[in-house]
Amino acid sequence: MPKLSIRDLDLNGKLVFMRVDFNVPLAPGGQEITSDKRIRASLPTIKYALEHGARLVLASHLGRPKGKPNPEMSLKPVAARLQELLGEPVVMAPDCIGPEVEKLKAEGHRVILLENVRFHPEEEKNDPEFARQLAAGCDYYVNDAFGSAHRAHASTEAITRFLPKAAAGLLMEKELEYLTRVTQDPPRPCIALLGGAKVSDKIEVIENLLKIVDRLLIGGAMAYTFKLAKGEPVGNSLVEPDKADLARELMAKAGDKMLLPVDHVVVEKIEAGAPSQVVETIPEGWAGVDIGPKTIELYSAEIARAKSIIWNGPMGVFEKPPFDAGTVALARAVAESGALSVVGGGDSEKAIKAAGVADKISHISTGGGASLEFLAGLVLPGVAALTDK
Ligand code: AMP
Repeated sequence: MPKLSIRDLDLNGKLVFMRVDFNVPLAPGGQEITSDKRIRASLPTIKYALEHGARLVLASHLGRPKGKPNPEMSLKPVAARLQELLGEPVVMAPDCIGPEVEKLKAEGHRVILLENVRFHPEEEKNDPEFARQLAAGCDYYVNDAFGSAHRAHASTEAITRFLPKAAAGLLMEKELEYLTRVTQDPPRPCIALLGGAKVSDKIEVIENLLKIVDRLLIGGAMAYTFKLAKGEPVGNSLVEPDKADLARELMAKAGDKMLLPVDHVVVEKIEAGAPSQVVETIPEGWAGVDIGPKTIELYSAEIARAKSIIWNGPMGVFEKPPFDAGTVALARAVAESGALSVVGGGDSEKAIKAAGVADKISHISTGGGASLEFLAGLVLPGVAALTDK
């Protein structure tokens, strides 16, 4: 069901509670932001609201303070950075609820940033009374934090019960638009590229993607659990032997939709620059760390034919060059394909950036966990809670 967008709201003179994802990485000590990417990602929605006459109460979590105030996870450095980026004052609230916050809300400031919502245990418990206090004094709710939408927390779910309209921010809207386009009647052929460490993390994703895609290309360590299930040698590769039965079932369901690597880069010790060889059969004592050149060729040909591509997870031990070669080569192939392409997960995004092709990808999701749950066909509570159009 399509959801209300911030563009559907009459924002003039309204106080809008906007849930953003300001869960930025901080240097030890919590004073210095090491990447402001997430703050920048929210700017279009924040600016849109301000330009349309709204006043904003911004809320986010940061880290895992476990329900207690922790100065190392304060959003204060974010307020300072946001103020620089916006070029107008951002008032940092001492908390996210309570009399001092109520006072700030009533004072007419254009931008207030609430303190970390996870300083209260009620946030992660989706507590209605806490949600009611978050919503106090506000007119509308906007959620732009796609990366938190798979969690039913007070600031993503319960709060929507206390405000008359709950809309998607521009970033949230874009995420939903692209993820929906590649999963509901996508341009065909539609292929998915799935990598990463474990089959067990992505069982539901594989099952759901098999219903959608024409081809599922498997890479990363999860390929070896499938190889093990087929009775092929895997040497010392990372495998989940207890998932072999499940892998067999998934392969039976997939039939010829699923492709596994046909060659592998193997090493005796998994470390950057370790001596390696390319093999079709993994020898005893060696571990697979990347897809080999024949697999790159095979997968690239599939990618070139595709009209839509879903990608999650690296094809090898991407953090340890040169074992990023397979992942980077496929990033280039996806970029050159001209297909509608949606990429999720931090490692795939890094590969796309390393290959210098980010501008040729239709959409890079900002939410790893949330995009995986979407691809698994699950309902995201933070999305379901938004007002239907
Ligand atoms: P995920 O979070 O499931 O997407 O997994 C990402 C992780 O999988 C990265 O840290 C990779 O290093 C790891 N990975 C990918 N391929 C392999 C492999 N062949 N052996 C060991 N780890 C791998």
